[in-house]
Amino acid sequence: MTRTAIVIGSGLGGLATALRLSAMGLRVTVLEKLDGPGGRAYTRREAGFTFDMGPTVLTVPHFIEELFALEKGVHGLDDPDFPPHTRTNERITSGISGGPATSRYVELVPILPFYRIYFEDGSYFDYDGDPERTRAQIERISPRDLAGYERFHTKAKAIFDRGFLELGYTHFTTVGSMLAVLPDLLKLDAVRPLFSIARDCFESDKLRAVFSFEPLLVGGNPLAVPGIYAMIHFVEKTWGIHFAKGGTGALVSALVKKLEELGGSIRYGAEVRSIDVIDGRGLPARSRLGRRRVRGVTLASGEVLAADLVVSNADYAHTYGTLIDPRVRLAHHDARVALARQSMSVVVIYFGFRDDGAPLDLQHHNIILGPRYEELLTDIFDRKILAEDFSQYLHVPTLTDPSLAPPGHHAAYTLIPVPHNGSGLDWSIEGPKLVAKVLCFLETRGYIPDLGKRLVHQSFVTPDYFEHTLNSHLGNAFGLEPVLWQSAFFRPHNRSEDIEGLYGVGAGYQPGGGTPSVMMSAKITARAIRDDLER
Ligand SMILES: Cc1cc2nc3c(=O)[nH]c(=O)nc-3n(C[C@H](O)[C@H](O)[C@H](O)COP(=O)(O)OP(=O)(O)OC[C@H]3O[C@@H](n4cnc5c(N)ncnc54)[C@H](O)[C@@H]3O)c2cc1C
Repeated sequence: MTRTAIVIGSGLGGLATALRLSAMGLRVTVLEKLDGPGGRAYTRREAGFTFDMGPTVLTVPHFIEELFALEKGVHGLDDPDFPPHTRTNERITSGISGGPATSRYVELVPILPFYRIYFEDGSYFDYDGDPERTRAQIERISPRDLAGYERFHTKAKAIFDRGFLELGYTHFTTVGSMLAVLPDLLKLDAVRPLFSIARDCFESDKLRAVFSFEPLLVGGNPLAVPGIYAMIHFVEKTWGIHFAKGGTGALVSALVKKLEELGGSIRYGAEVRSIDVIDGRGLPARSRLGRRRVRGVTLASGEVLAADLVVSNADYAHTYGTLIDPRVRLAHHDARVALARQSMSVVVIYFGFRDDGAPLDLQHHNIILGPRYEELLTDIFDRKILAEDFSQYLHVPTLTDPSLAPPGHHAAYTLIPVPHNGSGLDWSIEGPKLVAKVLCFLETRGYIPDLGKRLVHQSFVTPDYFEHTLNSHLGNAFGLEPVLWQSAFFRPHNRSEDIEGLYGVGAGYQPGGGTPSVMMSAKITARAIRDDLER
C-alpha cells in the first residue's frame, strides 16, 4: 500500500523533504499557504523586475545535486557518495557548478569574489576563499594579523572537518548524543562565541568583522553563535558561492518540476489550520496522555485531508503553538515557544534602477558595514532597538544575470538586520523611514550614484511580513536563533517526541537555518521517516 505524506510549507526544506519522500515511494502533497513556492525563497515579480525575496548566497552545490539526482527508488539516504563525483571544487574554478543532474534543470554559476565587504571609511575587503588573495587583502589592511589568520584558518578547518563533514547529519535525539560530542567540540574551541575567537585571532576591528559576520546570513549573532559557525568560512572556501541563473527562484521552480516528475504535487493557497491528531482508539485526541498519532490536517477552508504522516516546514512556534491542539502537545513545547530566543528579523528593500552606462563599482554580493559592529549587534539582538546607524547586505544580481531586469536596468535588493517584533516597533511608521534613509545612504555615499534620479521601482518587507505572511513567530527571519542552548539536542527535533507520524523540517529544526542546513534537515527528516516506516 502506498503511504501518503503531507508537507506543510514549500520552503527549500519542505521541497527537499517532499522530493526525498517521493523518491522513497510515498505519495506526497505539499500544502503551501502562499500563491507560489519557496517560502523565504519566494520570487517577487514587479514592474518587469525579478526579485529573489530571500536567499541569494547558495553554498554546497552538491546538496542541490543530490536532490536533482533522486529517482523513484533511488533515495541515496545512506550512500555517502551519492551522487558520485560532485564533492570537489573543480567545477568552481572551471566556471560551472551544480553537477550534471542539476544542469538538466537549472544553471548554477560560481560567484567571485564571494563578497566585497565595505567598511565605514570606504575601504573594502574582497573575500574569495583563495588563500593567497586572502593573505594579500589581510596584508593591505593589517599586516600584523597574518599570523592570526593562519590560526583562525587552522581552527576553522578542524571545526569544519568534525562539525560539518562528520557530524553534519547527526539527529540529536537524546542528551547523551549531545554529551558524546561535547568534549570534541570543547577541544576544537567550537563552543565559545565566534566573535571571541575572531577577537583573539585578529587585532584589526575590520578583520574581526570580516571573519565573523557570516552567521548573520543565517540569523546568528556573531557575538553569541558558538564557534562551530566558523565552519561557514570553510564551507564557502571549499565549495564556493553560487548563483542560480534566473535567480534563486529558478532553483525553486526547478525543484517543483522535479517533485512533479517524481509524482509529488503541490497546492498553493492551501493554508493549514490544524494538524489533526488521533488517540489509540482512532478518535480525535483530547489529552496528552496515551498514544497520539497524526491523522492529517485541516485547511483554513475547512477541507480535511488525511495522510499517514505529516511533515511541518512551517515555523516551529507556529507548528506547535498554533497548529496543534494545546491539550495534546507536550508542555515543553509551550515552554519553548514562550522562552525561546527567536532570530533577528530584516527589512529588505527590492529596487530597480536605470543603468546610466557607467560601470557600477559594486560586486554581486556586497556587505556594507556601518560605523559600529558589536554595539549594533547588541542593539539588534539584545536591546531590540532600531539604531540610527545600520549595516546592510546589498545584492546586485544583474551584474551576473541581466535577464532579471528590463533592458538598460538593474535589479537589486538590500537587506538590513533589525530586531524581531519583540521590539514593539511600529513598522508601518519605521519601515518607510528606514527605507528612505537606506536608499539615500546608497546614493550619498557613492555606492549607487544618482540613485534617486535613476530609481524606477521600489518595494520592501519588514518583520511584519515574516510574522503575518510567513507565520513566523515575532517576525523572525531565520527561525530560532542559533545559540548554543538552541542547538543540536536543544533545537526542536525533526521527529516529534510526542506525536507519532509528525515530523519537522527547516530552519526551526535541526541542524538549523540557511539553505544548505535546511537541505541537511530534509535528509535527517527523511532518514527518520524511513527508519520509522521500516520499524
Ligand atoms: C531575506 C533573507 C535572506 C537570506 N539569505 C540567505 C542566503 O543568502 N543564504 C542562505 O543560505 N540562507 C539565507 N537565508 C536563510 C534561508 O533563506 C532560510 O533558512 C531557508 O530558506 C528557510 O527554509 P525553510 O525550509 O525553513 O522554509 P521557509 O522558507 O521558512 O518556508 C516555510 C513555508 O511554510 C509556509 N507556511 C507557514 N505556515 C503555513 C501554514 N499554516 N499552512 C501552509 N503553509 C504554511 C510558508 O508560507 C512558507 O512558504 C535568508 C533568509 C532571509 C529571510
